[in-house]
Amino acid sequence: MECPKCKNAVLLDSQLPGKIPVKRCSECKGIWISSKHYRDLQHKQPQKQATPDLLQQKIDIPFTPSSVDGRAGLCPECGRYLSRAKVKYRQPFFIEYCQECGGFWLDEGEWDVLSALGLSSSLEQFFDRQWQMQMREQESLANERQTLIDKLGEDLARVIFALGDRLVEHPNGDYALAYLMRKAANNMDMQEFKKFKEEKFDRDH
Ligand SMILES: [Zn+2]
Ligand SMILES: [Zn+2]
Repeated sequence: MECPKCKNAVLLDSQLPGKIPVKRCSECKGIWISSKHYRDLQHKQPQKQATPDLLQQKIDIPFTPSSVDGRAGLCPECGRYLSRAKVKYRQPFFIEYCQECGGFWLDEGEWDVLSALGLSSSLEQFFDRQWQMQMREQESLANERQTLIDKLGEDLARVIFALGDRLVEHPNGDYALAYLMRKAANNMDMQEFKKFKEEKFDRDH
């Protein structure tokens, strides 16, 4: 079996903690987990949902993405192109999966990170379209909240978040929204009017 990432490097029998049999490349130190051994692992370990918060967790493992992380590769078992999925960890990296035989390729260090995050038996979710969309939504929500904090300051932003939560739970929350929108619109009208008056004043004098 040849390494999907290195030229002319052979994969050798190895084991992960927990006696999970894998094939390891002696050059790039990446590992191949066959579909069978991955499923055996899943029987022993509960699956866990990866969330942006969970992926941003601080774990006590030194990690730098492997130098071959950006490289595409062929499945060592069936020769098909491996699908790649981004894991948005603090230092993002890609993991690879074979759609044909169901095996996974992980570059050096990636397994340790995923294992420490409790996600080593939930790898297929990173390749799931729906999950990817959910993740993007959660990320843009988090970005929106951060923008609000940046623009309004922490204190006022917290008030807005709390108010937002109360309003969506209230059956007539839309009245409050309409009020706020109108107030903001009036304020904008006022500003426009002031600007207009100032310009007129400049013209007339
Ligand atoms: Zn290799
Ligand atoms: Zn394959």
